[in-house]
Amino acid sequence: MNLTLPEDGRVLRPGKLLCIGKNYAKHAAEMQSAVPEDPLIFLKPSTALVGDGGVIVLPALSADVHHEVELVAVIGRGGAGIPEREALAHVAAYAVGLDMTARDLQARAKQKGQPWSVSKGFDTFAPLGGLAPARTVPDPQDLDLRLTVNGETRQAGHTGDMVFSVATLIAYCSRIFTLEPGDLLFTGTPEGVGPVQDGDVLEAVASGLPPLRVTVRRA
Ligand code: MG
Repeated sequence: MNLTLPEDGRVLRPGKLLCIGKNYAKHAAEMQSAVPEDPLIFLKPSTALVGDGGVIVLPALSADVHHEVELVAVIGRGGAGIPEREALAHVAAYAVGLDMTARDLQARAKQKGQPWSVSKGFDTFAPLGGLAPARTVPDPQDLDLRLTVNGETRQAGHTGDMVFSVATLIAYCSRIFTLEPGDLLFTGTPEGVGPVQDGDVLEAVASGLPPLRVTVRRA
């Protein structure tokens, strides 16, 4: 899937999916985990993306796939070593997204000290809603995030509760990876993560952003 930037109509091929783990204290706590001292970064392949109205396919390799609703920042202007005070100017758009996670595979990986690529990286494990121009989001740390499954609220959080702000994350990530237009930053999930099943309908919203609706199907 390509990304059409709402501001100038530029069509970008999605690049890196930079994802942040344990960026809300209550989610870290529900995972029996401490909040990290530095941002915890993992990557997903762009093949994990699926758009609004799409289908999350439950892989045969997992018996426990969880939803994680997240604010996503779409990078419109690249850079390396971006100062924090300039970081938000590199964001072209925001969207609501889901960081789908095979929790059983992730738990096994954690136990063995292995990376999270498999548990986080399956096809369709990164649903992404429509893009809202960054100028329509004056403060990305002042958005309500909500996820319903079959109409029932499962996650309700506020981006002001992030441990590391969007600006801090962009600055930090750009010290490691050169950011490019089309890169996506998944900024972590609030508490309330849980399993999804065949037939579930997931609806994710963040204040003022286009909603994301996806259904779940077994492979
Ligand atoms: Mg996540």
